[in-house]
Amino acid sequence: MRLDRLLGRAVERLEAAGSPSARRDAEVLLCHVLGVDLAWLYTWGDREAPVLERARYEALIAARAVGKPVAYLTGKREFWGLVLSTSPDTLIPRPDTETLVEAALHLGRAPVGRLLDLGTGTGAIALAFASERPGWAVLGIDISLAAVALARHNAERLGIDNANFCKSDWFAALAGEVFELVVANPPYIDAQDPHLASGDLRFEPRSALVAANQGFADLCRLVQDARHHLTPGGWLLLEHGHTQAPRVRDVLQDEGFLEVASREDLSGHERVSLGQAAWAGSLGR
Ligand code: GLN
Repeated sequence: MRLDRLLGRAVERLEAAGSPSARRDAEVLLCHVLGVDLAWLYTWGDREAPVLERARYEALIAARAVGKPVAYLTGKREFWGLVLSTSPDTLIPRPDTETLVEAALHLGRAPVGRLLDLGTGTGAIALAFASERPGWAVLGIDISLAAVALARHNAERLGIDNANFCKSDWFAALAGEVFELVVANPPYIDAQDPHLASGDLRFEPRSALVAANQGFADLCRLVQDARHHLTPGGWLLLEHGHTQAPRVRDVLQDEGFLEVASREDLSGHERVSLGQAAWAGSLGR
């Protein structure tokens, strides 16, 4: 069967399964199997599909038809221009989270400093920041050892040597450590949220998505605990759901943070809230 016909049939199959991005997904998966780019695929569409690759492709399309995320099928996802390895042990990096990276880069303009990324997953935020600020020491922590191993693998493959990763339950392993910037994309979805039953979220680790207290449990805890780990004038930046900004700002203010504000993602939703530490780091109250 010709490649263009194979692709056309895969698109039809994904459309029939109700996929909202059938053509794009079918193209990405075929390029992945063949090890080519899209331009190659459309130039050489009249070539015969090699038998082994065709079988592999049809297996991937079958998995995609039941909803498996493309990023898990290909094992990679681009974030901030970096190609990151992904696995079902971690959240799939999302474009929304680039809002957090932008805000962190804006606040972290000094040539040197320390940034902590809590719940780093693939290492996406930590690696994006580290790649832009080679003079900074970046630390990413995760409670999942599999995530720590994946983030280290990503750092190595990308040749980013100013980012380190270790296992920690939020700040538990970081007693006495302070940072100019503390950032996190923690779990913030309510366990009853119907979005959990749609799209990629069905296949991602619950522990990376769901938090108690209508999704606020980890957000609140990080605001409370971060105060012991910020240098005076340091900043805490948190990603959250698109309706959660007012309450996160209130919590930041209640905990004594200054300059509390939110930043919008590309869809115009308040996605990140931040505040500045006005006290003397771990020596504070
Ligand atoms: N932003 C993701 C979503 O709603 C969730 C990420 C998270 O819980 N940290 O799909």
